[in-house]
Amino acid sequence: MGAIDGFKLPDGWALFGQAFAAGFEPPPRVTVTEWADQFRRLPTKGASEPGAWRTDRVPFLAEIMDCMSAGHPSKRVVFIKSVQVGATECLNNVVGWFVDTQKAPLMVVQPTLDMAERWSKQRLASMIEDSPSLRGKIAPARSRDSGNTTLLKEWAGGVMVISGANSGASLRSMPASYVLLDEVDAYPEEIEGEGDPVKLAEARATTFPRRKILLISTPTIESLSRINKEWQASDQRRYHIACPHCGHPQHLIWANLRWPKDRPDLAAYQCAACDKPIPEHHKTDLLRAGRWIATHPERDVPGFHINGLYTPIGLGLTWAELASEWQDAHKDPAHLKTFVNLRLGEVVADPEEKLDADDLEARASAYPVRQIPVGCLAITVGIDVQKDRFAILMLGHGRQGAMWVLDWLELPADPTAPAGWQSLDDWLAEIPLNSRGLSMRPLMVAIDSGYLTDNVLAWTRERQRRGVIAVKGASTPGKPIINKPSKLDVTIRGRTIKHGAEGWIVGADTAKSYLFNRLAADGKKTATERTVHFAAGLDASFYAQLTAEIWDPNRRRWVKVRPRNESLDTWVYALAAAHHPAVRLHLWKEPQWARLEAALEPNTKDLFGMDEKPRDPIAPTTPIQPPARPPLPRRVGGFARR
Ligand SMILES: [Zn+2]
Repeated sequence: MGAIDGFKLPDGWALFGQAFAAGFEPPPRVTVTEWADQFRRLPTKGASEPGAWRTDRVPFLAEIMDCMSAGHPSKRVVFIKSVQVGATECLNNVVGWFVDTQKAPLMVVQPTLDMAERWSKQRLASMIEDSPSLRGKIAPARSRDSGNTTLLKEWAGGVMVISGANSGASLRSMPASYVLLDEVDAYPEEIEGEGDPVKLAEARATTFPRRKILLISTPTIESLSRINKEWQASDQRRYHIACPHCGHPQHLIWANLRWPKDRPDLAAYQCAACDKPIPEHHKTDLLRAGRWIATHPERDVPGFHINGLYTPIGLGLTWAELASEWQDAHKDPAHLKTFVNLRLGEVVADPEEKLDADDLEARASAYPVRQIPVGCLAITVGIDVQKDRFAILMLGHGRQGAMWVLDWLELPADPTAPAGWQSLDDWLAEIPLNSRGLSMRPLMVAIDSGYLTDNVLAWTRERQRRGVIAVKGASTPGKPIINKPSKLDVTIRGRTIKHGAEGWIVGADTAKSYLFNRLAADGKKTATERTVHFAAGLDASFYAQLTAEIWDPNRRRWVKVRPRNESLDTWVYALAAAHHPAVRLHLWKEPQWARLEAALEPNTKDLFGMDEKPRDPIAPTTPIQPPARPPLPRRVGGFARR
């Protein structure tokens, strides 16, 4: 588009400029680039180059912005990019142009409602304040003025709603002819009960014949990246510049940035055709003369890819700085992945520890559900509460962190009714038997209290002394698998009640990392060497849910790839129960295991009393007390039917 030779006024534009000076509005058919160059002012605070916006400083944005102009036929535009390439201003320009020239509804979606508010208060507010043509259209946000709040802006004939991809209600709030989706790779995979947030937002535009959808994002890991999937389906445009030596047109790729060993400060771009180095000071001119070329021109969705090598001089890292960062990143694989995502704007392969449901199912052992194999010496239970059921995982434990999934089920029940909880009590009252026919009661039962908290606490409160605890996943990462309890029962005066209900914070992401590292390590071992074991015949949904989340190294958190993940959650709770201060299986030393083993798995002679009596004084039929520290004799075991 027009940026190649610098911006030229189109026919009639000069007249229009005079008209604007006389107080007229810009005509609706002005393009986004024309509007931005004429009316957009960058804020004095925060912007590296305050003052009038100049598209020729970031020439590759012109065509992206103009695909969003009303006269352009594209209905869907995809922009996959690194950081520091002006994508935020690209979005802001589309918003400014829309407010100034269109009389229609617009929706801007940020990853969360919090981020939506921040974008509105910081980016949008300063754009309106600094651009005179917008200032007259939208008054500053006032809480008492319903037509103009942080998340809703009205102007004559138009309205803009600013939504969070984590809120189905905000995405459904209003039909919109334009839907601008910012940082789509940070959107949740699915909103509870409402499906894909991108589909939900897009559905708002279906009735508008002149609708447009813009998707912008820095990519993440391959299986999670929405923007990469969109880019793959697009016409895949890359910005080509001509070599100043030989004239060969090419797009900039990381592999062709070269520098002498340990001298990243000397980095230069090596032409793909003539091999001559192109110093970075040519970049400004090269970008201005550049153009987009599509890999699949037959496709009708324009998709644009830009990496950090294109960052205009003065607006971000130089080639030398990128080279230096790349060298540093090589010391840590996690940093390298971040570099590829954020600086090169490319997806990285999924983490190696990504687990496949079918692979895990193939590891199932021969022992049937609820039969305790030899070596499994302790049991904990994790429970998740759902609207119409309990998800329950029974987990066995042995030496050196060995784990056995003994049972997994979804027990249909109404957790708001006493009968529902009775069915849970009944399930727990069925004590499983071990290889010697001895009953083994769960040492500790952990139930999630994040949903129907009052009902859960009513149940745990009465069973606290019998080893039933309420747990809640920590919202901040890096917590220990189980943390200190907080007293949840308070008096009317706000004092905590001494023997009232306790809630234990579970470091769910820590527990998931622990579990997945073990499962991944098992993948390289033979069946007999593995430390995690699965009962035969567990439902396939168990394995699907167990692999419903993967670790995103950039956002540093676990991300759902499938909506249902209860088997993973319940495993986390059962693991937290094993780490509970009254149990602490992870800290047990060999003498403790040996003592428990002697009690639970006496050798055959002992069992039939043909030889000497068992050395351990615990009779086989009484519930086994773990030799835990500190010993809390009445706290554990005990799920007698009432
Ligand atoms: Zn060349």
